[in-house]
Amino acid sequence: MLQSLNIPEEILKRRWGYNSFKPLQKEAVETTLSGRDCMVVLPTGGGKSLCYQLPAAMGRGLALVISPLIALMDDQVTNAREIGLMADAIHSNLAASRRKDVYRRLSEGKTELLYVSPERLLMGDLLPYISERVFLAAIDEAHCVSHWGHDFRPEYRRLGEVLDCFPKAARMALTATATPEVQNDICDRLSLRKPSCLIGHPDRPNLIYRALPRRDRLSQILDIARRHDGCGGIVYAQTRKDVERLAEGLKKAGISCAPYHAGLSADDRRRAQDDFVKEKLDVIVATIAFGMGIDRSNVRYVAHANTPRSMEHYQQESGRAGRDGMPSECLLLFAASDLALHRRLSKTEGITAQREQAIDRQLREIGRYAVAPVCRHRLLTNHFGAPYPPDGSNKENCGACDVCLGETKSLPNDEAVLTAKKILSAAWRMEGRYGAGYVVNLLLGRSNERIELNGHNTLKVFGLLKDSGEVAVRSWIDQLIVQDFLEVREERNYPLLRITAAGKQLCKDKCSVRLGIPIPPPLKHKKKKVAELNKKTGCGLDIDKELFESLRSFRRLLADKSGIPPYIIFHDSVLLEMAALKPQTLNDLRGIKGIGEHKLKRYGAAFLKIIANNIR
Ligand code: ADP
Ligand code: MG
Repeated sequence: MLQSLNIPEEILKRRWGYNSFKPLQKEAVETTLSGRDCMVVLPTGGGKSLCYQLPAAMGRGLALVISPLIALMDDQVTNAREIGLMADAIHSNLAASRRKDVYRRLSEGKTELLYVSPERLLMGDLLPYISERVFLAAIDEAHCVSHWGHDFRPEYRRLGEVLDCFPKAARMALTATATPEVQNDICDRLSLRKPSCLIGHPDRPNLIYRALPRRDRLSQILDIARRHDGCGGIVYAQTRKDVERLAEGLKKAGISCAPYHAGLSADDRRRAQDDFVKEKLDVIVATIAFGMGIDRSNVRYVAHANTPRSMEHYQQESGRAGRDGMPSECLLLFAASDLALHRRLSKTEGITAQREQAIDRQLREIGRYAVAPVCRHRLLTNHFGAPYPPDGSNKENCGACDVCLGETKSLPNDEAVLTAKKILSAAWRMEGRYGAGYVVNLLLGRSNERIELNGHNTLKVFGLLKDSGEVAVRSWIDQLIVQDFLEVREERNYPLLRITAAGKQLCKDKCSVRLGIPIPPPLKHKKKKVAELNKKTGCGLDIDKELFESLRSFRRLLADKSGIPPYIIFHDSVLLEMAALKPQTLNDLRGIKGIGEHKLKRYGAAFLKIIANNIR
């Protein structure tokens, strides 16, 4: 028995109730146990926490976790305690009464896992309590250390110094999103010593990605919300006004939702977040201020009503869907005007030329992602320097994005060139003096007073694309912008569309272009695809729906009583398995993935009772 305490697999089964490690978890644990530094890059939901929590459960001393997010720390502490780990967190929101207990446990050498914010650690007063016992210093969200990353934090820059206070501790840097450039920066800045680099594949096979031109944002968002009725969803919008409007629209349509943005009072925000996490609210409509501290594992969709600022942001924000590995959806509604707004807002006074270039590059990349008629799984993983498909096969179709599902088609090459030329020649003819809307009307042959006044209704380009429809023409213009054939320049606060040098080259047949055309599929078709994906990810169990709902309500009740989020008690996947297998004994329960000994003791009997009552 004593011996088995040293075997990571045994601990994984006994504490967490899992039968096997996820990719690279075992390597991370073993590297740490051998005293070496490592860098772990795994996508959201990849199971990074376990990489440092499992060593903490081995009685080696104190595992210190540096994390930038207070909400996340508390969540993780609750989580770790639920599996019987002695975990604590120290941050600025810690009540004075609890702080005393935390320090007492630290001085008694009882703490196994301690979460701390970088600011708090840099203050230095904690060091005497911990420096002797720390055998592992884990830096979560390590991309915050890098200027190149998407969430740079100045405090992270100074972590290298303070880590030197634990010369014997192994260092572990963890992040979900890091390009090779950011990975190098992390190793340098945190002075990792000959680290083992454990880079996982960034793909999230349980997510369906869709990137569509924005037509009518409310109805497009309603469509996805209705398809996941009663489930958790996050909707991101760019401005507070957009957030308010969308939340109102969703509410009117009977969807349980709340807005979340920096203009609301701290109380309102806390309530919305709390209700969402505790499953008293289905949907949060938010600016990106929301979500950093959210670990709700059963978020079934993330919809972006506006284009995010970068691929890294998109990976991180959309990644909040389906942490539990169950099929989930990510929708991005694109318009080129979003990029212009980001550009304007990010170019604040005093910005360095280097930073400015980085921002421009990031905007171009996310724009390309949103409009290229290329598999979205492939584009995302390639962005993070990984091949697609992950298994190295030459399978072309991911079966889980709008392009591979046949909802967005590319125009054949010659048609794409012809279409592009029509649009470009209209823009060329307008000499950069009009906005995109004007050019759209011109191409569609829709005359108005201004067009007539200018005599543009007599031009050859007038009505060149009159059969294509406004959605397609607008989308093509956006597609040409992100491919650098067109550009938008602001003049006296008015965005004007003009042809670029590359656009002129294209008109002379000197380069190639790709254009996609979105075809909205009928709803039924989408449902079938989700069902197929269900099967593919192994979630296609034969589930007793009624029992599942009873288990879910019971879980909510329990969670409410102890003031913790329901998914921390058991994941949805655990309840689904219960509702399918209908276990009758504690031993049956042991067989379900995600029920360790601690939870079995605490909750097993009560859940068995619900199951027994329901079967009868
Ligand atoms: P990350 O921090 O990488 O986003 P988390 O540490 O939050 O991921 O873990 C994501 C989910 O995966 C959690 O619900 C966790 O319980 C689950 N998980 C972690 N390791 C395993 C494993 N070996 N087998 C099954 N599920 C796991
Ligand atoms: Mg994490």
